[in-house]
Amino acid sequence: MGINFHNSQNKARYQVRIEPYSRRFKQPLQTHHGLWRDRQGIWIQLCPMAASEAGECGWGEIAPLPEFGSENLTEALHFCQSLRGEISPEEINSIPDDLPACQFGFESALMDLHPLENPPHLMNICGLLPTGKAALDPKLPIWNQGYATLKWKIAVTEISQELALFQDLLWMLPEGVKLRLDANGGLTEAEAHQWLQACEHQPVEFLEQPLGRSEFEAMLALSHEYETPLALDESIATWQQFLQVYHRGWPSIMVIKPAIFGFPSRLIEFCHAHPVDIVLSSVFETAIARKMLFRLATTLPNLDRALGLGTDRWFEDGGMGEWGNGGMGEWGDTGRWRRGDAGTRGHGEMETRGRGDAGTRGDGDAKK
Ligand SMILES: [Mg+2]
Repeated sequence: MGINFHNSQNKARYQVRIEPYSRRFKQPLQTHHGLWRDRQGIWIQLCPMAASEAGECGWGEIAPLPEFGSENLTEALHFCQSLRGEISPEEINSIPDDLPACQFGFESALMDLHPLENPPHLMNICGLLPTGKAALDPKLPIWNQGYATLKWKIAVTEISQELALFQDLLWMLPEGVKLRLDANGGLTEAEAHQWLQACEHQPVEFLEQPLGRSEFEAMLALSHEYETPLALDESIATWQQFLQVYHRGWPSIMVIKPAIFGFPSRLIEFCHAHPVDIVLSSVFETAIARKMLFRLATTLPNLDRALGLGTDRWFEDGGMGEWGNGGMGEWGDTGRWRRGDAGTRGHGEMETRGRGDAGTRGDGDAKK
């Protein structure tokens, strides 16, 4: 259950509008899970139905990733349609745990109705290199975009080739830049040893998910044997798995993908109560969900590691969905969210109802 930060006496109901989206990767993304060509999800908008609350609408995004244990798009759509266009905060808090992307999307939209008091400042963001040899092209823009942390996917080709490429990559790495290696659970135990030996004394921030999600004990042993930290990702894709791993004493880093992790409020509450070393990571969502990630990044305590959000350049539309940057809004110079004109461009269900509009392009209204 999420936290009912909304006044429990409040019988508020919200009109729900949904807009499924599909975004094409500029080039399919190769991971150990296979080739990924399109990213699909659902934008949602909640608008207060009571006249006394008329005004702002809240935005959220459902970006499922069934390979990581979340619901799939069809299940999420089915849930949205079952609402018949209305929802209350209590019903949002009751969204079941087998719909974590819906929990995230709807609670994000509810939280979006409440302005952020402490706006985020510039974040430390981790860029994502292309997989394999393509990363070694010095003309890639990513090499000159000022990233202090870069991620590279491994376990996609034969290990001796990859280890040779890794040496070349280390040669190219600018002074002070760190690498994150992500195996997506694709290494054998023997290969994980080879990689961790190759990482010794190198600027590698961590090796992410070397082994499959069922091989927790082996990863725990590896984490004690080498100096390079390990991070778990696939092993803690759901809230229940995360709790299990935490209570089994995982001593190292945990990668959280908030968009598929369920209620944001639950994560905030947990991190305030327990010391955890976490990395927040993207699931190739659009700016709507990203806004919530930034909000989480400013709310969670001791979040020192670069955010895994450097994913915009992977999309034809620059990461903002078909409505474009202005449509989704952006963090303004004041550090506050500036609404774009997504609500006024005539996109059917997401169109606003003529009050509490979603802002207009360039109005500079920092209030959401
Ligand atoms: Mg990962």
